[in-house]
Amino acid sequence: MTEDTICALATPPGEGGIAVIRISGPEAETVLYRVFRPFSGQIPLAERRMTLGIVADADKAMAVVMRAPYSYTGEDVCELQLHGGRALCAAILETLYAAGARVAEPGEFTKRAFLNGKIDLSEAEAVQSLIGASTAAAARAAYAVLRGGLSEKTESIRGELTDTIASLEALIDYPDEYIPDDVTEKLARQTGDWTERLRRILAGERGARLFHKGLRAVIAGSPNVGKSSLLNCLCGTARAIVTDEAGTTRDTLDVTVDVMGIPVTFIDTAGLRHGTGKAESIGIERAVEAMRNADIVLAVRECGGNFEDALTEGLARLDPSVPVVRVANKIDLADEERRSDTVYVSALGGEGIDALKRRVFEMAGGVPVEDVLVTDQRQCDCLREALDALELVRQGIDAGAGSECLLVDLRGAWSALGRVTGRGEPEEIIDRIFSKFCLGK
Ligand code: GDP
Repeated sequence: MTEDTICALATPPGEGGIAVIRISGPEAETVLYRVFRPFSGQIPLAERRMTLGIVADADKAMAVVMRAPYSYTGEDVCELQLHGGRALCAAILETLYAAGARVAEPGEFTKRAFLNGKIDLSEAEAVQSLIGASTAAAARAAYAVLRGGLSEKTESIRGELTDTIASLEALIDYPDEYIPDDVTEKLARQTGDWTERLRRILAGERGARLFHKGLRAVIAGSPNVGKSSLLNCLCGTARAIVTDEAGTTRDTLDVTVDVMGIPVTFIDTAGLRHGTGKAESIGIERAVEAMRNADIVLAVRECGGNFEDALTEGLARLDPSVPVVRVANKIDLADEERRSDTVYVSALGGEGIDALKRRVFEMAGGVPVEDVLVTDQRQCDCLREALDALELVRQGIDAGAGSECLLVDLRGAWSALGRVTGRGEPEEIIDRIFSKFCLGK
Protein backbone atom coordinates (compact mmCIF):
# COMPACT_ATOMS: atom_id res chain seq x y z
CA MET A 1 0.00 0.00 0.00
CA THR A 2 1.17 3.47 -0.82
CA GLU A 3 1.46 6.24 1.69
CA ASP A 4 0.25 9.25 -0.22
CA THR A 5 -3.15 10.24 -1.48
CA ILE A 6 -3.59 11.16 -5.12
CA CYS A 7 -6.24 13.10 -6.94
CA ALA A 8 -7.14 13.90 -10.55
CA LEU A 9 -9.93 14.74 -12.92
CA ALA A 10 -11.22 11.37 -14.24
CA THR A 11 -13.37 12.84 -17.03
CA PRO A 12 -11.92 14.66 -20.08
CA PRO A 13 -11.04 18.29 -19.41
CA GLY A 14 -13.35 20.88 -20.93
CA GLU A 15 -17.00 21.81 -20.69
CA GLY A 16 -19.45 19.03 -19.88
CA GLY A 17 -22.65 18.23 -18.03
CA ILE A 18 -20.70 16.75 -15.17
CA ALA A 19 -17.08 16.08 -14.28
CA VAL A 20 -15.75 13.37 -11.97
CA ILE A 21 -12.80 13.96 -9.67
CA ARG A 22 -11.23 10.91 -8.12
CA ILE A 23 -9.21 10.74 -4.90
CA SER A 24 -7.35 7.59 -3.84
CA GLY A 25 -5.13 6.77 -0.88
CA PRO A 26 -5.16 6.41 2.90
CA GLU A 27 -6.18 10.06 3.41
CA ALA A 28 -8.87 10.11 0.71
CA GLU A 29 -11.77 10.57 3.11
CA THR A 30 -9.96 13.11 5.28
CA VAL A 31 -9.17 15.15 2.17
CA LEU A 32 -12.77 14.88 0.97
CA TYR A 33 -14.27 16.07 4.27
CA ARG A 34 -11.99 19.12 4.27
CA VAL A 35 -13.60 20.17 1.00
CA PHE A 36 -17.07 18.64 0.86
CA ARG A 37 -20.00 19.36 3.20
CA PRO A 38 -22.99 16.97 2.86
CA PHE A 39 -26.42 18.59 3.23
CA SER A 40 -27.29 15.86 5.72
CA GLY A 41 -24.38 16.98 7.91
CA GLN A 42 -23.52 13.29 8.43
CA ILE A 43 -19.83 12.48 8.27
CA PRO A 44 -18.43 9.93 7.56
CA LEU A 45 -20.54 9.33 4.48
CA ALA A 46 -22.29 6.01 4.04
CA GLU A 47 -20.23 3.72 1.83
CA ARG A 48 -21.13 3.40 -1.87
CA ARG A 49 -24.00 5.88 -1.63
CA MET A 50 -24.18 9.11 -3.57
CA THR A 51 -24.51 12.02 -1.14
CA LEU A 52 -25.45 15.54 -2.14
CA GLY A 53 -23.61 18.51 -0.66
CA ILE A 54 -21.47 21.57 -1.30
CA VAL A 55 -17.91 21.38 -2.52
CA ALA A 56 -15.46 24.18 -1.61
CA ASP A 57 -18.37 26.63 -1.35
CA ALA A 58 -18.27 26.68 -5.14
CA ASP A 59 -20.71 24.08 -6.44
CA LYS A 60 -23.34 21.57 -5.49
CA ALA A 61 -21.84 18.13 -5.88
CA MET A 62 -22.40 14.46 -5.22
CA ALA A 63 -19.77 12.48 -3.36
CA VAL A 64 -19.26 8.73 -2.99
CA VAL A 65 -16.89 6.81 -0.76
CA MET A 66 -15.52 3.34 -1.57
CA ARG A 67 -13.39 1.98 1.24
CA ALA A 68 -10.38 -0.35 0.84
CA PRO A 69 -10.14 -2.96 -0.47
CA TYR A 70 -13.46 -2.69 -2.33
CA SER A 71 -12.51 0.01 -4.82
CA TYR A 72 -10.86 0.32 -8.25
CA THR A 73 -7.40 0.92 -6.75
CA GLY A 74 -7.90 -1.31 -3.73
CA GLU A 75 -7.35 1.77 -1.52
CA ASP A 76 -9.86 4.18 0.00
CA VAL A 77 -11.37 5.99 -2.97
CA CYS A 78 -13.67 9.03 -3.01
CA GLU A 79 -15.28 10.47 -6.10
CA LEU A 80 -16.89 13.82 -6.57
CA GLN A 81 -19.41 14.54 -9.30
CA LEU A 82 -19.67 18.24 -10.01
CA HIS A 83 -20.52 20.46 -12.96
CA GLY A 84 -18.10 20.04 -15.84
CA GLY A 85 -16.60 23.52 -16.08
CA ARG A 86 -12.92 24.01 -16.87
CA ALA A 87 -12.32 26.79 -14.30
CA LEU A 88 -14.57 25.15 -11.71
CA CYS A 89 -12.73 21.80 -11.90
CA ALA A 90 -9.33 23.51 -11.78
CA ALA A 91 -10.39 25.43 -8.67
CA ILE A 92 -11.75 22.31 -6.91
CA LEU A 93 -8.59 20.37 -7.73
CA GLU A 94 -6.46 23.17 -6.25
CA THR A 95 -8.56 23.00 -3.08
CA LEU A 96 -8.06 19.24 -2.90
CA TYR A 97 -4.29 19.62 -3.32
CA ALA A 98 -4.30 22.20 -0.53
CA ALA A 99 -6.30 19.72 1.57
CA GLY A 100 -3.53 17.13 1.34
CA ALA A 101 -3.84 15.20 -1.93
CA ARG A 102 -1.19 15.34 -4.61
CA VAL A 103 -1.59 15.37 -8.40
CA ALA A 104 -1.91 11.83 -9.76
CA GLU A 105 0.51 10.80 -12.52
CA PRO A 106 -0.94 9.39 -15.78
CA GLY A 107 -2.15 5.86 -15.14
CA GLU A 108 -1.43 6.04 -11.42
CA PHE A 109 -4.90 4.86 -10.32
CA THR A 110 -4.62 1.77 -12.53
CA LYS A 111 -1.01 1.24 -11.47
CA ARG A 112 -2.16 1.19 -7.84
CA ALA A 113 -4.91 -1.27 -8.78
CA PHE A 114 -2.18 -3.50 -10.27
CA LEU A 115 0.22 -3.09 -7.33
CA ASN A 116 -2.61 -3.86 -4.88
CA GLY A 117 -3.50 -7.04 -6.81
CA LYS A 118 -6.91 -5.82 -8.00
CA ILE A 119 -6.03 -6.50 -11.64
CA ASP A 120 -3.08 -8.11 -13.40
CA LEU A 121 -0.91 -6.45 -16.02
CA SER A 122 -2.77 -7.80 -19.07
CA GLU A 123 -6.04 -6.56 -17.54
CA ALA A 124 -4.50 -3.12 -16.87
CA GLU A 125 -3.41 -2.95 -20.52
CA ALA A 126 -6.94 -3.92 -21.52
CA VAL A 127 -8.28 -0.93 -19.55
CA GLN A 128 -6.22 1.34 -21.76
CA SER A 129 -7.29 -0.50 -24.92
CA LEU A 130 -10.92 -0.26 -23.85
CA ILE A 131 -10.63 3.51 -23.37
CA GLY A 132 -8.86 3.88 -26.72
CA ALA A 133 -11.16 1.54 -28.70
CA SER A 134 -12.68 3.28 -31.71
CA THR A 135 -15.10 0.53 -32.73
CA ALA A 136 -17.57 -1.56 -30.74
CA ALA A 137 -15.71 -4.78 -31.66
CA ALA A 138 -12.38 -3.36 -30.47
CA ALA A 139 -14.04 -2.45 -27.17
CA ARG A 140 -15.53 -5.96 -26.91
CA ALA A 141 -12.14 -7.58 -27.50
CA ALA A 142 -10.52 -5.33 -24.88
CA TYR A 143 -13.28 -6.13 -22.40
CA ALA A 144 -12.73 -9.86 -22.89
CA VAL A 145 -9.10 -9.38 -21.81
CA LEU A 146 -10.14 -7.04 -18.99
CA ARG A 147 -12.44 -9.78 -17.70
CA GLY A 148 -9.37 -11.99 -17.46
CA GLY A 149 -9.84 -13.91 -20.74
CA LEU A 150 -6.12 -13.85 -21.54
CA SER A 151 -4.78 -14.34 -18.01
CA GLU A 152 -7.10 -17.29 -17.46
CA LYS A 153 -5.69 -19.08 -20.51
CA THR A 154 -2.01 -18.30 -19.89
CA GLU A 155 -2.29 -19.03 -16.16
CA SER A 156 -3.85 -22.41 -16.81
CA ILE A 157 -0.93 -23.37 -19.08
CA ARG A 158 1.49 -21.95 -16.51
CA GLY A 159 -0.15 -24.05 -13.79
CA GLU A 160 0.34 -27.22 -15.86
CA LEU A 161 3.95 -26.20 -16.51
CA THR A 162 4.49 -25.79 -12.76
CA ASP A 163 3.38 -29.40 -12.15
CA THR A 164 5.54 -30.72 -14.98
CA ILE A 165 8.58 -28.77 -13.80
CA ALA A 166 8.09 -30.10 -10.28
CA SER A 167 7.88 -33.70 -11.44
CA LEU A 168 10.95 -33.35 -13.69
CA GLU A 169 12.91 -31.74 -10.87
CA ALA A 170 12.25 -34.85 -8.82
CA LEU A 171 14.09 -36.85 -11.48
CA ILE A 172 17.27 -34.77 -11.37
CA ASP A 173 18.63 -36.81 -8.47
CA TYR A 174 18.41 -40.00 -10.51
CA PRO A 175 21.69 -41.24 -12.01
CA ASP A 176 22.58 -40.21 -15.61
CA GLU A 177 19.62 -37.88 -15.82
CA TYR A 178 17.48 -40.83 -16.65
CA ILE A 179 13.94 -39.99 -17.79
CA PRO A 180 11.45 -42.87 -18.05
CA ASP A 181 9.88 -43.25 -21.51
CA ASP A 182 6.37 -42.59 -20.30
CA VAL A 183 7.48 -39.27 -18.77
CA THR A 184 9.09 -38.18 -22.05
CA GLU A 185 6.02 -39.21 -24.00
CA LYS A 186 3.74 -37.28 -21.69
CA LEU A 187 6.01 -34.22 -21.87
CA ALA A 188 6.02 -34.35 -25.68
CA ARG A 189 2.25 -34.54 -25.72
CA GLN A 190 1.89 -31.66 -23.28
CA THR A 191 4.40 -29.51 -25.13
CA GLY A 192 2.41 -29.99 -28.35
CA ASP A 193 -0.79 -29.11 -26.53
CA TRP A 194 0.63 -25.96 -24.89
CA THR A 195 2.09 -24.87 -28.23
CA GLU A 196 -1.26 -25.30 -29.94
CA ARG A 197 -3.11 -23.35 -27.25
CA LEU A 198 -0.61 -20.47 -27.35
CA ARG A 199 -0.72 -20.36 -31.16
CA ARG A 200 -4.48 -20.04 -31.01
CA ILE A 201 -4.21 -17.01 -28.71
CA LEU A 202 -1.54 -15.47 -30.92
CA ALA A 203 -3.73 -15.92 -34.00
CA GLY A 204 -5.72 -12.96 -32.67
CA GLU A 205 -2.66 -10.69 -32.78
CA ARG A 206 -3.30 -9.34 -36.25
CA GLY A 207 -6.95 -8.78 -35.41
CA ALA A 208 -5.99 -6.84 -32.30
CA ARG A 209 -3.57 -4.69 -34.29
CA LEU A 210 -6.20 -3.96 -36.93
CA PHE A 211 -8.79 -3.09 -34.28
CA HIS A 212 -6.32 -0.74 -32.70
CA LYS A 213 -4.53 0.87 -35.63
CA GLY A 214 -7.12 0.52 -38.35
CA LEU A 215 -6.44 0.55 -42.08
CA ARG A 216 -6.03 3.06 -44.87
CA ALA A 217 -8.09 1.97 -47.85
CA VAL A 218 -7.71 3.97 -51.04
CA ILE A 219 -10.55 4.04 -53.56
CA ALA A 220 -9.07 4.30 -57.05
CA GLY A 221 -10.60 4.25 -60.50
CA SER A 222 -11.37 6.35 -63.55
CA PRO A 223 -13.56 9.43 -63.23
CA ASN A 224 -17.28 8.77 -62.99
CA VAL A 225 -17.08 5.07 -62.10
CA GLY A 226 -18.74 5.98 -58.78
CA LYS A 227 -15.89 6.36 -56.27
CA SER A 228 -17.44 9.28 -54.38
CA SER A 229 -20.82 7.54 -54.40
CA LEU A 230 -19.15 4.42 -53.02
CA LEU A 231 -17.53 6.43 -50.23
CA ASN A 232 -20.88 7.98 -49.37
CA CYS A 233 -22.55 4.61 -49.42
CA LEU A 234 -19.83 3.08 -47.19
CA CYS A 235 -20.13 5.75 -44.56
CA GLY A 236 -23.85 6.16 -44.89
CA THR A 237 -23.73 9.94 -45.19
CA ALA A 238 -23.26 12.35 -48.08
CA ARG A 239 -19.73 13.48 -47.28
CA ALA A 240 -18.07 13.24 -50.67
CA ILE A 241 -19.30 15.53 -53.43
CA VAL A 242 -20.98 13.53 -56.18
CA THR A 243 -21.47 14.93 -59.67
CA ASP A 244 -21.86 13.43 -63.12
CA GLU A 245 -19.26 15.74 -64.60
CA ALA A 246 -16.03 13.77 -65.12
CA GLY A 247 -13.06 14.76 -62.98
CA THR A 248 -14.81 16.64 -60.17
CA THR A 249 -13.10 14.94 -57.23
CA ARG A 250 -9.77 16.64 -57.65
CA ASP A 251 -8.33 16.16 -54.21
CA THR A 252 -8.44 13.29 -51.77
CA LEU A 253 -11.19 13.00 -49.19
CA ASP A 254 -11.23 10.55 -46.33
CA VAL A 255 -13.71 9.16 -43.91
CA THR A 256 -13.38 6.44 -41.26
CA VAL A 257 -15.91 3.62 -41.25
CA ASP A 258 -16.34 0.65 -38.90
CA VAL A 259 -15.79 -2.41 -41.11
CA MET A 260 -16.63 -5.46 -38.99
CA GLY A 261 -14.78 -3.88 -36.10
CA ILE A 262 -11.81 -2.45 -37.99
CA PRO A 263 -11.71 1.34 -38.24
CA VAL A 264 -11.07 1.67 -41.97
CA THR A 265 -10.23 5.10 -43.35
CA PHE A 266 -11.48 5.16 -46.93
CA ILE A 267 -9.71 7.69 -49.09
CA ASP A 268 -11.45 8.88 -52.23
CA THR A 269 -8.91 9.89 -54.85
CA ALA A 270 -9.11 11.98 -57.99
CA GLY A 271 -10.15 9.93 -61.02
CA LEU A 272 -7.27 8.03 -62.46
CA ARG A 273 -6.91 8.84 -66.12
CA HIS A 274 -4.36 10.46 -68.31
CA GLY A 275 -5.69 13.96 -67.72
CA THR A 276 -5.50 17.09 -69.75
CA GLY A 277 -5.78 19.88 -67.16
CA LYS A 278 -2.94 20.63 -64.76
CA ALA A 279 -5.06 20.15 -61.62
CA GLU A 280 -6.10 16.73 -62.85
CA SER A 281 -2.55 15.57 -63.56
CA ILE A 282 -1.56 16.60 -60.04
CA GLY A 283 -4.66 14.77 -58.78
CA ILE A 284 -3.60 11.61 -60.58
CA GLU A 285 -0.09 11.75 -59.15
CA ARG A 286 -1.68 12.16 -55.72
CA ALA A 287 -3.94 9.18 -56.35
CA VAL A 288 -0.95 7.03 -57.26
CA GLU A 289 0.91 8.31 -54.20
CA ALA A 290 -2.13 7.58 -51.99
CA MET A 291 -2.34 4.06 -53.40
CA ARG A 292 1.30 3.49 -52.58
CA ASN A 293 0.70 4.56 -48.97
CA ALA A 294 -2.43 2.43 -48.65
CA ASP A 295 -2.89 -0.74 -46.60
CA ILE A 296 -5.51 -1.87 -49.08
CA VAL A 297 -6.73 -0.57 -52.46
CA LEU A 298 -10.27 -0.67 -53.82
CA ALA A 299 -9.92 -0.66 -57.60
CA VAL A 300 -13.28 0.45 -59.00
CA ARG A 301 -14.67 0.14 -62.51
CA GLU A 302 -18.13 0.12 -64.02
CA CYS A 303 -19.83 -3.22 -64.38
CA GLY A 304 -19.46 -4.31 -68.01
CA GLY A 305 -16.45 -2.01 -68.42
CA ASN A 306 -12.69 -2.38 -67.98
CA PHE A 307 -10.12 -0.80 -65.73
CA GLU A 308 -8.68 2.16 -67.58
CA ASP A 309 -5.01 2.04 -68.57
CA ALA A 310 -4.10 4.68 -65.97
CA LEU A 311 -5.53 2.52 -63.15
CA THR A 312 -3.86 -0.64 -64.48
CA GLU A 313 -0.62 1.35 -64.59
CA GLY A 314 -1.18 2.65 -61.03
CA LEU A 315 -1.86 -0.87 -59.76
CA ALA A 316 1.29 -2.13 -61.48
CA ARG A 317 3.31 0.46 -59.54
CA LEU A 318 1.96 -0.85 -56.23
CA ASP A 319 3.90 -2.99 -53.79
CA PRO A 320 2.61 -6.53 -54.51
CA SER A 321 2.00 -7.07 -50.77
CA VAL A 322 -0.80 -4.46 -50.78
CA PRO A 323 -4.13 -6.29 -51.19
CA VAL A 324 -6.32 -5.03 -54.04
CA VAL A 325 -10.09 -5.46 -53.86
CA ARG A 326 -11.65 -5.32 -57.33
CA VAL A 327 -15.00 -3.63 -57.39
CA ALA A 328 -17.51 -3.48 -60.27
CA ASN A 329 -20.01 -0.68 -59.62
CA LYS A 330 -23.37 0.25 -61.16
CA ILE A 331 -24.75 -3.29 -61.31
CA ASP A 332 -28.17 -1.68 -61.64
CA LEU A 333 -27.18 -0.34 -65.06
CA ALA A 334 -25.27 -3.22 -66.63
CA ASP A 335 -24.33 -6.83 -65.96
CA GLU A 336 -21.49 -9.13 -66.90
CA GLU A 337 -20.32 -12.66 -66.27
CA ARG A 338 -19.46 -12.73 -62.57
CA ARG A 339 -15.83 -13.23 -61.55
CA SER A 340 -14.84 -14.53 -58.11
CA ASP A 341 -12.08 -11.94 -57.69
CA THR A 342 -14.56 -9.08 -58.03
CA VAL A 343 -17.19 -7.65 -55.71
CA TYR A 344 -20.32 -6.41 -57.52
CA VAL A 345 -22.04 -3.37 -56.04
CA SER A 346 -24.38 -0.52 -56.71
CA ALA A 347 -23.16 2.54 -54.88
CA LEU A 348 -26.46 4.19 -55.64
CA GLY A 349 -28.79 1.46 -54.33
CA GLY A 350 -26.43 -0.03 -51.73
CA GLU A 351 -26.49 -3.60 -53.10
CA GLY A 352 -23.31 -5.55 -52.43
CA ILE A 353 -21.92 -3.04 -49.91
CA ASP A 354 -21.95 -5.53 -47.01
CA ALA A 355 -20.19 -8.09 -49.20
CA LEU A 356 -17.63 -5.42 -50.07
CA LYS A 357 -17.01 -4.69 -46.39
CA ARG A 358 -16.63 -8.43 -45.76
CA ARG A 359 -14.10 -8.71 -48.61
CA VAL A 360 -12.10 -5.75 -47.25
CA PHE A 361 -12.10 -7.43 -43.80
CA GLU A 362 -10.95 -10.77 -45.22
CA MET A 363 -8.29 -9.34 -47.52
CA ALA A 364 -6.93 -7.19 -44.70
CA GLY A 365 -6.52 -10.37 -42.63
CA GLY A 366 -9.24 -9.49 -40.13
CA VAL A 367 -9.94 -11.89 -37.27
CA PRO A 368 -13.42 -12.40 -35.73
CA VAL A 369 -13.72 -10.48 -32.49
CA GLU A 370 -14.30 -13.59 -30.39
CA ASP A 371 -10.86 -14.89 -31.46
CA VAL A 372 -9.03 -11.76 -30.33
CA LEU A 373 -7.69 -12.33 -26.83
CA VAL A 374 -4.73 -9.98 -26.80
CA THR A 375 -4.71 -6.21 -26.71
CA ASP A 376 -1.09 -5.39 -26.64
CA GLN A 377 2.24 -6.02 -28.36
CA ARG A 378 3.93 -6.75 -25.03
CA GLN A 379 1.50 -9.61 -24.34
CA CYS A 380 2.22 -11.06 -27.79
CA ASP A 381 5.98 -10.80 -27.24
CA CYS A 382 5.67 -12.77 -23.98
CA LEU A 383 3.52 -15.42 -25.70
CA ARG A 384 6.00 -15.69 -28.56
CA GLU A 385 8.89 -16.07 -26.12
CA ALA A 386 7.00 -18.88 -24.37
CA LEU A 387 6.40 -20.55 -27.75
CA ASP A 388 10.10 -20.30 -28.66
CA ALA A 389 11.04 -21.90 -25.34
CA LEU A 390 8.53 -24.72 -25.91
CA GLU A 391 10.00 -25.30 -29.36
CA LEU A 392 13.39 -25.78 -27.68
CA VAL A 393 11.76 -28.27 -25.29
CA ARG A 394 10.38 -30.16 -28.29
CA GLN A 395 13.80 -30.21 -29.97
CA GLY A 396 15.37 -31.30 -26.69
CA ILE A 397 12.97 -34.25 -26.40
CA ASP A 398 13.73 -35.28 -29.99
CA ALA A 399 17.45 -35.11 -29.30
CA GLY A 400 17.07 -37.20 -26.13
CA ALA A 401 18.14 -34.37 -23.81
CA GLY A 402 18.30 -34.95 -20.05
CA SER A 403 15.92 -33.48 -17.52
CA GLU A 404 18.21 -30.64 -16.48
CA CYS A 405 18.45 -29.39 -20.03
CA LEU A 406 14.68 -29.64 -20.62
CA LEU A 407 14.02 -27.85 -17.36
CA VAL A 408 15.92 -24.76 -18.52
CA ASP A 409 13.51 -24.24 -21.43
CA LEU A 410 10.41 -25.28 -19.49
CA ARG A 411 11.29 -22.64 -16.89
CA GLY A 412 11.85 -20.16 -19.75
CA ALA A 413 8.30 -20.77 -21.01
CA TRP A 414 6.96 -20.63 -17.45
CA SER A 415 8.49 -17.23 -16.71
CA ALA A 416 7.53 -15.75 -20.12
CA LEU A 417 3.91 -16.73 -19.43
CA GLY A 418 4.09 -15.23 -15.96
CA ARG A 419 5.08 -11.90 -17.47
CA VAL A 420 1.77 -11.74 -19.39
CA THR A 421 0.09 -10.99 -16.07
CA GLY A 422 3.04 -8.94 -14.84
CA ARG A 423 4.82 -11.55 -12.69
CA GLY A 424 8.56 -10.89 -12.84
CA GLU A 425 8.14 -8.02 -15.29
CA PRO A 426 10.83 -5.44 -14.35
CA GLU A 427 9.70 -2.24 -12.65
CA GLU A 428 10.82 0.00 -15.51
CA ILE A 429 8.59 -1.92 -17.93
CA ILE A 430 5.67 -1.57 -15.51
CA ASP A 431 6.37 2.17 -15.20
CA ARG A 432 6.55 2.54 -18.97
CA ILE A 433 3.22 0.76 -19.46
CA PHE A 434 1.38 3.01 -17.01
CA SER A 435 3.01 6.22 -18.23
CA LYS A 436 1.19 5.68 -21.54
CA PHE A 437 -2.18 5.90 -19.78
CA CYS A 438 -4.28 9.01 -19.84
CA LEU A 439 -4.37 11.33 -16.86
CA GLY A 440 -6.99 10.44 -14.28
CA LYS A 441 -7.08 6.70 -15.18
P1 GDP B 1 -16.43 9.34 -59.30
O1 GDP B 1 -16.02 10.38 -60.27
O2 GDP B 1 -15.80 8.05 -59.58
O3 GDP B 1 -16.25 9.78 -57.87
O4 GDP B 1 -17.99 9.08 -59.54
P2 GDP B 1 -19.26 9.66 -58.78
O5 GDP B 1 -19.45 8.99 -57.48
O6 GDP B 1 -19.17 11.16 -58.81
O7 GDP B 1 -20.42 9.15 -59.71
C1 GDP B 1 -20.53 9.53 -61.07
C2 GDP B 1 -21.96 9.36 -61.51
O8 GDP B 1 -22.32 7.98 -61.47
C3 GDP B 1 -22.97 10.09 -60.62
O9 GDP B 1 -23.97 10.61 -61.44
C4 GDP B 1 -23.52 8.99 -59.76
O10 GDP B 1 -24.83 9.25 -59.31
C5 GDP B 1 -23.50 7.82 -60.70
N1 GDP B 1 -23.42 6.55 -60.00
C6 GDP B 1 -22.52 6.17 -59.04
N2 GDP B 1 -22.76 4.92 -58.64
C7 GDP B 1 -23.83 4.47 -59.31
C8 GDP B 1 -24.56 3.24 -59.33
O11 GDP B 1 -24.29 2.28 -58.64
N3 GDP B 1 -25.61 3.17 -60.19
C9 GDP B 1 -25.96 4.21 -60.99
N4 GDP B 1 -27.00 4.04 -61.77
N5 GDP B 1 -25.32 5.36 -61.01
C10 GDP B 1 -24.25 5.51 -60.20
